[in-house]
Amino acid sequence: MASPVASQFLNSSSFSNVLNEIDTFIFDADGVLWLGESVMPGSPALVDYLLSKNKTVIVLTNNATKSRAVYSEKLAKLGYNKMINKDSIVNPAAVVADTLDRAGLGGDKKVYLIGTQGIKDELDDLGIEYFGDGPDPVENHHDGSTAFIYDIELEEQHADVGAVVVGYERHFNYIKLMKAANYLQNEKCLYIATNEDETCPGPDPNTVIPDAGPIVAAVNVASGREPIVVGKPNTPAFEYICRRWTIDPQRTMMVGDRTNTDVKFGRDHGLKTCLVLSGCHQVEDILDHHENERHDMVPDFYAENLGSLVPTEVAVPKIAKLDAEIARKISLVEIDDSYLPQPNRFVYY
Ligand SMILES: [Mg+2]
Repeated sequence: MASPVASQFLNSSSFSNVLNEIDTFIFDADGVLWLGESVMPGSPALVDYLLSKNKTVIVLTNNATKSRAVYSEKLAKLGYNKMINKDSIVNPAAVVADTLDRAGLGGDKKVYLIGTQGIKDELDDLGIEYFGDGPDPVENHHDGSTAFIYDIELEEQHADVGAVVVGYERHFNYIKLMKAANYLQNEKCLYIATNEDETCPGPDPNTVIPDAGPIVAAVNVASGREPIVVGKPNTPAFEYICRRWTIDPQRTMMVGDRTNTDVKFGRDHGLKTCLVLSGCHQVEDILDHHENERHDMVPDFYAENLGSLVPTEVAVPKIAKLDAEIARKISLVEIDDSYLPQPNRFVYY
């Protein structure tokens, strides 16, 4: 159980002291490195600074809808250092594929997939065969009767399905639920979920956008099984990082904008933690967790944003250059301001 901590505010001056005690920085993406499709001003400068100090930088997102390769392209497009590439990124899609690969899935065993392109790309990378993704043909079942349920055929025999993987899938429907629940009746069939976030961010804060959580919950109830959940704050993502990087948890800092995923992930795995106030959670949330003794969600540190941690002598020229770049882009395209921080906005990645 996490012990109580008194969160310390970090700015560029106090950060320079902390810097000596940290070798590896793990950054969440949305609300930290970017907001939707826009770069978080100042964040590329901090990443540059950390790399110049020979720090290891890892990006850990809970979003499985895109592959690491796609996120790598996005980082490059937003102006991040080219040293941060696909191999610097961890997302649930990669952890799912790695988990299946290490479980020896392959050969004549297939994955029943309720999920999107990000997972498909990562499974393809490791040569793991999957089926079931995308829309199901239900056009013959619109007569209003329930008889069609008895006609649904499982594409594969139970014994041939080595795993059911569940994540966000906009084509989720009754047929997918029924198939997943039936394949999972085989106790040897692995059950893996990307993440359990209830909702995902959208332009209108008054509109609820269901994420993977409700889909996973439906499969849980129908199958009577509980999945291995790989996304933050769960351990599979931490173990994945430990297999790929040599990290000393006490000299590693998890930086994110959410207390219940990013900070909890860090606290649960013995890392230093820093909440940035540029995304979802704010100082009020830290105070709430203190009052409720949820020490596992109280960060060691908090800061306005990543840019506020860049030493002044480095920040001035870097940010001036960045501002000029942003000004140039604003003159070319209309910036979507729906991703600007709002106090009660739902931001999950
Ligand atoms: Mg985030």
